[in-house]
Amino acid sequence: MDHTVVFYCILGILLGEFVLTTILNYLNAKKFRDPIPADVHDVYNPEEYKKSQEYKLANYRFGIVTSVFSLVLIVGFLVFGGFGFVDTIVRDLTNNQILQALLFFGFIMIGSDFLATPLSYYQTFVIEEKFGFNKTTVKTFLLDKLKSWLMTIVIGGILLSLVIWFFQFAGKGFWLYTWALIAVFTLFMNLFYSKLIVPLFNKQEPLETGSLKEKIEAYASKVGFELKNIFVINGSKRSTKANAYFSGFGKEKRVTLYDTLINDLEEDEIVAVLAHEIGHYKKHHIIFNLITSVLLTGFMLFILSLFINNPSISLAVGVDRPSFHAALIGFGILYSPISELTGLLMNYFSRKFEYQADDFAKNTFAAPPLITSLKKLSKNSLSNLTPHPTYVFVHYSHPPLVERIRNLKA
Ligand SMILES: [Zn+2]
Repeated sequence: MDHTVVFYCILGILLGEFVLTTILNYLNAKKFRDPIPADVHDVYNPEEYKKSQEYKLANYRFGIVTSVFSLVLIVGFLVFGGFGFVDTIVRDLTNNQILQALLFFGFIMIGSDFLATPLSYYQTFVIEEKFGFNKTTVKTFLLDKLKSWLMTIVIGGILLSLVIWFFQFAGKGFWLYTWALIAVFTLFMNLFYSKLIVPLFNKQEPLETGSLKEKIEAYASKVGFELKNIFVINGSKRSTKANAYFSGFGKEKRVTLYDTLINDLEEDEIVAVLAHEIGHYKKHHIIFNLITSVLLTGFMLFILSLFINNPSISLAVGVDRPSFHAALIGFGILYSPISELTGLLMNYFSRKFEYQADDFAKNTFAAPPLITSLKKLSKNSLSNLTPHPTYVFVHYSHPPLVERIRNLKA
């Protein structure tokens, strides 16, 4: 296929995605002022509700700025030969194909993140600050950035080097080796993320002995769930928003509670949240998500292997000498409509799983403390009580609060 056709496909995809996202955000914003459904009328008092309306609006406006910014950046890069420019610099520095790819992605990723830093700074220190969520300092903010760059360089660098090495000796067959590599990596991360990565950013300690721990253990043994690792993480270092999550499986399974969650909720409510998380495990959602993401990765790599040797893709992104790294950039954009679709599917399953986990908590513990905890968590994050159904369908991994409460009351 001629590379100008591919170029216009890429441009069309970028513009199309921008237009669709913008329309969807607009539709969602139009429902900000809808009347509050009866089941959630007591989440906010009138003053807090006004604050939540302002928060939604501030994020909506900020979202417009960031999406225009990233569109202009990438289209500008494509049209004015940015990728070709970076490719030339990289080729002047080294002849090694692996080093070229590492430098190419290094420059582009760190460069674009650097350009986006003022925006994320504004989001944290102006918007989140104004609504009282922000607890992070400029120092922590910059250290976080530095640490995540280092992590990307080390982990991303190793993975990318291996992938190009596979490509050098196996040609198109590289996708199978890459698939195996990513499957092992995904599994490894699922098991050890909490042990290896989280400590780089947060402090986490085992939950202290006391009435909360006793209640949690009593519940866990009642449902036949062996729970050795309950950790408390200092989420309050960055934000007042609360959370809890489950990770790993087998012996490595652990529950992580944010310290903010422990401060905001009553003990029964925390056990209810935990019951929900255990529900995800008992209903095999964690394994399902793991297997699905490995299968989707395999599918994507297979499609990539069909296009990777096509010089039109490198030429379309403005790189004269076709290469693995240039083709990867083009493919990344060409594949994005498919990943949007698989994302929709994953969100659909995720929302189903949320109901199942809620039902598990309702049947093995109780519905009322889960209802009040969900209300408190929504209130404390100023969440949207009246999202647009299409917006929910596309973006929400959890059902809207009102629907979860209706399900819990049913
Ligand atoms: Zn859940």
